[in-house]
Amino acid sequence: MASTLFYKHGEFCAAHPWEVIVAILTLTGCMFSVEQQYAAPLPKPPIRDCASCIQEAEYNAADLIVMTLIRCLAVPYSYYQFCILQKFGSKYIIGIAGLFTVCSSFVFTTTVINLLRFDVADIRDALFFFILLMDLSKAVILAQFALCAKNQDEIKNNIAKGMAILGPTVTLDAIVEALVISVGALSGVRRLEIFSGFACLSILVNYVIFMTFYPACLSLLLELSRTSSIYLKKEIRPSLIISALNEEDNKSNPIVRRVKLIMSVGLMLVHIHRYMYRWPSHEESIDSVSPFVVEQHLALNSTQTVTFHGYLMRWIALSADHIVILILLLALLCKFIFFENKEELVEQLRVHMNNQSLEFLNPNEHQNNHLNRTIRQRFIPTMPFFRSHSMFLDNVSLDNEEKDLVDKEVQTQNEVEILSLPLNNSKEVTSKNIAVLCPPMARSVNECLTIYKSDLGATTLTDEEVILLVKNKHIPPYQIEKAVDDPERGVRIRRQMIGKDGNFGEALEDLPYKNYDYTKVMGACCENVIGYMPIPVGIAGPLLLDGKVIYVPMATTEGCLVASTNRGSRALLKCGITSRVVADGMTRGPVVRFPSVAKASEVMVWMENKENFGKIKESFDASSRFARLKKIQVRIAGRYLFARFVATTGDAMGMNMLSKGTEMSLKFIQTLFPEMEILSISGNFCADKKPAAVNWIEGRGKSVVCEAVVPAEIVSTVLKTSTHALVDVNISKNMVGSAMAGSIGGFNAHAANVVTAIFIATGQDPAQNVGSSNCMTLMEPWGRNGEDLYISCTMPSVEVGTIGGGTVLPAQAACLEMLGVKGSHSECPGENANQLARVVCGTVLAGELSLMAALAAGHLVRSHLRHNRSSVAIFSEMEGNIHVTPPCKTGAYFVKT
Ligand code: NAP
Repeated sequence: MASTLFYKHGEFCAAHPWEVIVAILTLTGCMFSVEQQYAAPLPKPPIRDCASCIQEAEYNAADLIVMTLIRCLAVPYSYYQFCILQKFGSKYIIGIAGLFTVCSSFVFTTTVINLLRFDVADIRDALFFFILLMDLSKAVILAQFALCAKNQDEIKNNIAKGMAILGPTVTLDAIVEALVISVGALSGVRRLEIFSGFACLSILVNYVIFMTFYPACLSLLLELSRTSSIYLKKEIRPSLIISALNEEDNKSNPIVRRVKLIMSVGLMLVHIHRYMYRWPSHEESIDSVSPFVVEQHLALNSTQTVTFHGYLMRWIALSADHIVILILLLALLCKFIFFENKEELVEQLRVHMNNQSLEFLNPNEHQNNHLNRTIRQRFIPTMPFFRSHSMFLDNVSLDNEEKDLVDKEVQTQNEVEILSLPLNNSKEVTSKNIAVLCPPMARSVNECLTIYKSDLGATTLTDEEVILLVKNKHIPPYQIEKAVDDPERGVRIRRQMIGKDGNFGEALEDLPYKNYDYTKVMGACCENVIGYMPIPVGIAGPLLLDGKVIYVPMATTEGCLVASTNRGSRALLKCGITSRVVADGMTRGPVVRFPSVAKASEVMVWMENKENFGKIKESFDASSRFARLKKIQVRIAGRYLFARFVATTGDAMGMNMLSKGTEMSLKFIQTLFPEMEILSISGNFCADKKPAAVNWIEGRGKSVVCEAVVPAEIVSTVLKTSTHALVDVNISKNMVGSAMAGSIGGFNAHAANVVTAIFIATGQDPAQNVGSSNCMTLMEPWGRNGEDLYISCTMPSVEVGTIGGGTVLPAQAACLEMLGVKGSHSECPGENANQLARVVCGTVLAGELSLMAALAAGHLVRSHLRHNRSSVAIFSEMEGNIHVTPPCKTGAYFVKT
């Protein structure tokens, strides 16, 4: 109930930060500008006579000692607080939460003080109280919560969740602290009353600020800095925080909560009683509570009856405020000793876990044991940090001798050490995120295996121990990520393992692996991952394609390629490119075998029948929402039968979809022709990723054509050549030359260059550049004088998709987004993929034009020497005295086209 209220409240503050901030600031402004005359005047201090001078001197001496003590305590306490905060691991969090809380609380407290007309000189020393009362950990936790978020909605949600968890505890703490400290206000000692009043005030102001201003500012700050990528910094482990602040865990420990409630009620009663007792009677005015009046009174009495009892009373009265201050300090110390002593806490948990060890490992038993559940929930998610041998001692099935051995070692090494500090209420056992660290101590394979097979899994093992299990074949090398339940950690372990085995650990340092979303890779794009390959991405454009200006991302390491394509785009900017997708159909060609040629040909005839095709199509189409069978091209070779299934696949490239649909269809055919033997779902008649005439002739994926008419002026000024020269080179190179080479689909200058660069940038299957680069580039003289240039590119087998495969990876998806073709087309599935195929063909045309012009003008070698040769490499070769004969050795380099 309380949590829900706090959740709603937190949600409101996070969702309406401006409103909350403005409201608080307005209120503060109002308080600040309240006319002094409206504020209640403080009672004037009594006039002291000379008789009290000696006592005042005594009083000042005691005051000096106590205040020095407070100041001295404030310094180590501040240091202690920062030590705690440092272990939260993020400078951002400490920066945001610490600075903000201290500053805002101070400003607001000062404003309230101004309103109440406290004398600043009086509360000078109370500032040290202010420091002692500050508890930044909760502010830090809330900031951590907010920083876990990936977007604004999550920020709000996380802040609300944090408030729901922290709210009840913070409220109870504020009440208890205020009540304890306000004991000082009943002391009857004016200076102490001011101190206590100030302390209570700052607790209440802190509380109000924490509950309103702080979450609002946090939400606003993170929203404003969304682009500055402070979300999800490496050191902030969302899973750790969220799990550590698991709701159930952080609902206060019922015992501690009950103690606090009882304390509050008790203190309330004390306060009520004291107020009633001290209610001014006819003999006693308010001024009479002044310490000096009391002192005077006692001094007078003492001259009359100097008894031991009287002397004691006098001394007590004189030092009353110091005694109360000391009591308060002791209370604060107790708070940290009894409620925040991590070692003791861990020890308690350890003892408990030893007692409960078997329950700990068996989740089905003792389900209702609260602490057991708490430990399970809190410790298991923090397992990468969590290594307590003692904790496992009774959990793992070691024999007694082994247990004793480990126990001794643990004791001698004083093993239990706090690594990670409480993430929530720092006062309670159940709201702590505790990770226990042991000094490195090699565990045997059996020990590791027992732990791995337990509920704890490999998350609790060190990297070395995981490697040990992999090497002993207990964890498959390709499943490390799954075993440790942390993809990046899995990748890191694999790198360590193969780095050591292959003796190339150092080389791996240059292969990045951090800060990559491996969840999108696992089970979809790559296995045995050891990192990712950063490839430079250039941009070619603007390219005017079908009346639209586009910029084409190209991932390549070949110098000149992007520059050359860019030049082609520039040359085509005036005339533009027109493109059409003339056919669409991804293919899969299984091979099946029959007992005889007769049976094979019978089935072939059956399949070519229109009615039967309908039945096959039905089974095929049932496999997907988007894949639709268009036709089947059947060919026979002896008793082998090859059926090339052709289907549209929406916005996906469609290979998996085709495989799935084809398999379904074959199973259906097999029910009618049981003698049919399915040899392979792919019989190479598809043909996928291999040069094949079938794709060139029949098409595969998208068949695209595009054309442009380049004005003679552009040919001469931008391309630095003539139409005649271009047409001449095109015929001799792309037609005759390719025919001489026996090329299939290779009637172009370098279509594969452009295709592959776009494929890599946009997450296509790069191996499909084989068929996708099939291209015929044609050039003709155009116009009345034949000085303009007509150019066309025909690409019958562009295999692209905008959904599935590598298109889901963030960087690749970003490039698709640039082209406006990311994901599924909202209205007409398949349109995005078609558009991408047009972009590929249009960019190929720009690339063809530019390269052919460079060849015609004889610029190719020069530009490649300038842009495609690493001066770094050449320099290091020379430094190493390696003899390299320049152009002749790199001949292939220059004439590669
Ligand atoms: P896929 O990711 O396997 O399948 C596409 C998925 O997207 C399907 O589940 C499809 O739904 C869904 N989808 C949602 N909206 C869609 C839309 N608008 N259009 C089309 N599908 C939509 O992708 P794929 O293109 O079939 O396969 C690509 C992968 O296959 C690549 O990783 C490639 O490297 C790999 N590949 C496989 C082979 C092979 O032989 N299997 C060969 C070469 C490459 P439905 O479930 O309703 O269809």
